[in-house]
Amino acid sequence: MKNGIYIIATPIGNLGDISARAIETLNAADIIACEDTRVTKKLFSLLGLDMHKTFIKLEDHNEEQQAEKIIELINSGKTVAQVSDAGSPLISDPGYKLVRKCREAGIKIFTIPGACALICALQLSGLPTNNFMFAGFIPNKEKARKDFLMQYKNLNTTLVFYETALRIQKTLSAAGEIFQNRDMAVARELTKVYEECIAGSASELLEHFEKNPPKGEMVFMVGPLKENAPKEINLEEILKEKMVSASLKDAVKQTAEEYNLNKNDVYKKALELKNGQ
Ligand code: SAM
Repeated sequence: MKNGIYIIATPIGNLGDISARAIETLNAADIIACEDTRVTKKLFSLLGLDMHKTFIKLEDHNEEQQAEKIIELINSGKTVAQVSDAGSPLISDPGYKLVRKCREAGIKIFTIPGACALICALQLSGLPTNNFMFAGFIPNKEKARKDFLMQYKNLNTTLVFYETALRIQKTLSAAGEIFQNRDMAVARELTKVYEECIAGSASELLEHFEKNPPKGEMVFMVGPLKENAPKEINLEEILKEKMVSASLKDAVKQTAEEYNLNKNDVYKKALELKNGQ
């Protein structure tokens, strides 16, 4: 086994999803860096892996200090494997600061890929996957949730969020207002017995969860903007910006073409701006 750090994905529900490379590497590593030693030791026991090694905690709040310790251990010849409680480390889980520090220290980093909830959810959703944005966890407080979702309102791509059963209904209500007619999907219990992915509008999904109270871990997805959806644009701001470097006539022409707007309406607005109204 080459000296360095191994970033290893573990199952998100179905133990059978552990890879042969993950098993081999977890068995061979001297040290296991994990979020919760109890969770990882349980996984080792379920998979029948060699428990005779050092387990150290790596969490968001102690990642920088633990990274220094891990680098010293690797430099002294030990091999370290990093796992999270479930799924792919670093994806809404600790690890990127450790990886950055290892890179700075010239340590070799290896990836042992496997289950990742956002990828499984996208695969089931039927939403476009050629282009997507993963935005992690949605804040819990009402205003923070709305502000957070608003940032992505005009982004024309599939949006992917991590969510919990407790909050999904509040999120769907807010998303219905913000993303309006866009397609949505919720994937839950991925790779487990009750795995499902429900697709529909925000109100259809809300109706579903009123009849079937939400349970388990969830991924919430919003499809790209619809072709026929009215684009919300700030015409005044756009024109002001363009009129700094272009004539009024050119600014009107460019804006009307770019945003598919009526040229006369844009011209009227440009004249108002020019005359300081
Ligand atoms: N790093 C993990 C990954 O991407 O594979 C995710 C860790 S994050 C702390 C936990 C969140 O991932 C959950 O709240 C849920 O949104 C999502 N998740 C994890 N396992 C899942 C599952 N089996 N089904 C649906 N969502 C899951």
